[in-house]
Amino acid sequence: MDAREQAGDQIEVSLRPASLEEYIGQSELKANLRVFIHAARARNEALDHVLLYGPPGLGKTTLAYILAHEMGGNLKTASGPSIEKSGDLAAILSTLEPGDVLFIDEIHRLPKQVEEVLYPAMEDYCLDIVVGKDTGSVHNIRLSLPPFTLVGATTRAGDLSAPLRDRFGIVDQLQYYELADLRKIVARTSRVMATPIEEAALDEVALRSRGTPRIANRLFRRVRDFAQVYNEGVISLDVARDALDRLHVDHLGLDAVDHKYLLGIIERFRGGPVGLEALSSSIGEEPMTIEDMYEPYLLQIGFINRTPKGRIATQKAYDHFHIPREEKA
Ligand code: ADP
Repeated sequence: MDAREQAGDQIEVSLRPASLEEYIGQSELKANLRVFIHAARARNEALDHVLLYGPPGLGKTTLAYILAHEMGGNLKTASGPSIEKSGDLAAILSTLEPGDVLFIDEIHRLPKQVEEVLYPAMEDYCLDIVVGKDTGSVHNIRLSLPPFTLVGATTRAGDLSAPLRDRFGIVDQLQYYELADLRKIVARTSRVMATPIEEAALDEVALRSRGTPRIANRLFRRVRDFAQVYNEGVISLDVARDALDRLHVDHLGLDAVDHKYLLGIIERFRGGPVGLEALSSSIGEEPMTIEDMYEPYLLQIGFINRTPKGRIATQKAYDHFHIPREEKA
């Protein structure tokens, strides 16, 4: 990660809302969480384990911080691929205090043997450790853990094993944000960063954010750069449009990769169906990136369909590029 990305990350952290009150949108999920938090606090128990799934940038990590804050505990964070051995997980679990929240991002990528350590920890707040491997007198010891809440996040709920998924008491999907909520998020970012933005420019940034707060914040930062250099810091509609056009983000929020992906299906594969592997190698993008970051939004706006035979571009996608659809023989 270079210095610029690190600075971007720090800004992202400072933009994170700290309470459910400040967390914009996702109203149904928020209303449910309020009830569960209230009930757990009244019983003086840890909140049940929470699994959040949905595309990147929709606010899963932010919500984990908020849950820890609302429950009065600390947040410990880890990610599935970084916990390689069961001992790594045991080390993290043994630092937990009563009421803490352990956040595991990309939980679908936890190795199987690590997952098995998690089961008794989630179910009975216990840690089973095997000792004596060196001496030949192998036996198990069971250590108890304080009551804690595991918050798991994944972009792929379908990749989670059934035993792991079943151990979460609260399972919820984050939705893409409505325009009105994205407007509020951009307005909040403008306040936090003390950079005013004109109403029409705010609409433009919200509109081109692909329903995703992380993208809204990123676009806001870039538009702010253009405003600083070309318009004495004033984010007007013209500056916003010009900046977003230069970043190749179109009026639906589709960027250069979306374009390459859609034109790939339309032009190279005559609209599909085309398999993910063939398509990704033809456009030079990783299949996982395409599946996790690009396709969910294109499905949501009805630009592609996924069929058993592969991906298909819809009429809407053809219309977006003003390309007539050729009749297939
Ligand atoms: P995820 O974990 O789903 O990839 P994050 O929680 O890291 O997403 O969110 C990305 C950024 O978007 C955060 O830094 C935060 O500033 C912003 N954000 C996410 N959800 C919201 C929300 N509901 N309200 C305001 N800002 C949000």
